[in-house]
Amino acid sequence: MYTLKLCSLFPLSQAPRLPRAGETIHGHKFFIGFGGKGANQCIQAARLGVKTAMVYFVGQTSDAATGAASITVNDAGENAIVIVAGANMLLGREELQKALPAISHAKVLVCQLEISPQMSLQALRMARNSRVKTIFNPAPAIPDLDPDFYKVSDVFCCNESEAKLLTGSSVTNVEEAHRAGQELLKRGCGSVIITLGPQGSVVLKAQESTSKHIPVTAATAVDTTGAGDSFIGALAFYMANYSTVPLEEMARRANQVAAVSVQAVGTQTSFPFRHNLPAELF
Ligand code: ADP
Repeated sequence: MYTLKLCSLFPLSQAPRLPRAGETIHGHKFFIGFGGKGANQCIQAARLGVKTAMVYFVGQTSDAATGAASITVNDAGENAIVIVAGANMLLGREELQKALPAISHAKVLVCQLEISPQMSLQALRMARNSRVKTIFNPAPAIPDLDPDFYKVSDVFCCNESEAKLLTGSSVTNVEEAHRAGQELLKRGCGSVIITLGPQGSVVLKAQESTSKHIPVTAATAVDTTGAGDSFIGALAFYMANYSTVPLEEMARRANQVAAVSVQAVGTQTSFPFRHNLPAELF
């Protein structure tokens, strides 16, 4: 598997609630973790037992610093996050070209939007040209996504808020997710997965015109930060290693992996290893 992007710092504060604009509040705990989405997804896939690599940019120049994101988590396990992509936005065609040998020999390429959208799209095209399977995670979401992203995505995987931004419709339950998924599917992707937090995920496949809800046993969330990354890392692992398993079953297993991640604090620190998981997931 080969995943594109960010390696950055994540100061995380735990507080009773999220602060309002202009407000200063006391929190109970602070630590610095690592991220972003690409690194998280890469690490979750690696913890399940697949060889991974990343393309990213770090830097501390006058133009850009290494990417960072400040996270606040409240006592209900909800979070508010500000991402500053920094040096990753400077990753250009030349660097991507250097990564071509690795991309073209991978089984799966995962892209997000924490490098520039043009470079993510270019990487997905490179993978497609080499018959490498692609997962595109449109996060952090942007409203005017280039329509070509759909056409180069074997699996287009997003969460409720990303699906809402991209379709303009509310996505808060399974029914609405089915509808938003149909709309995204029409734009040209092979399959769409929308993750729904404790409600699991929905899977839609263009080939079979099906839309299935894949429930998860709801866990008591301690910190949901990175649950989507855990899901996508796991999905990439399954796509790389179990090519004959149906996508719905991969989503069921990825749900279980991500459900473990919400039961501990932090992002990468909460991601389970293969030995922490039931054998039926492998
Ligand atoms: P994101 O982190 O992008 O917002 P979600 O909140 O949709 O992503 O979570 C991703 C996946 O994590 C879900 O599809 C589900 O499998 C799992 N998950 C999230 N919250 C819970 C929960 N409280 N209990 C069980 N599984 C959960």
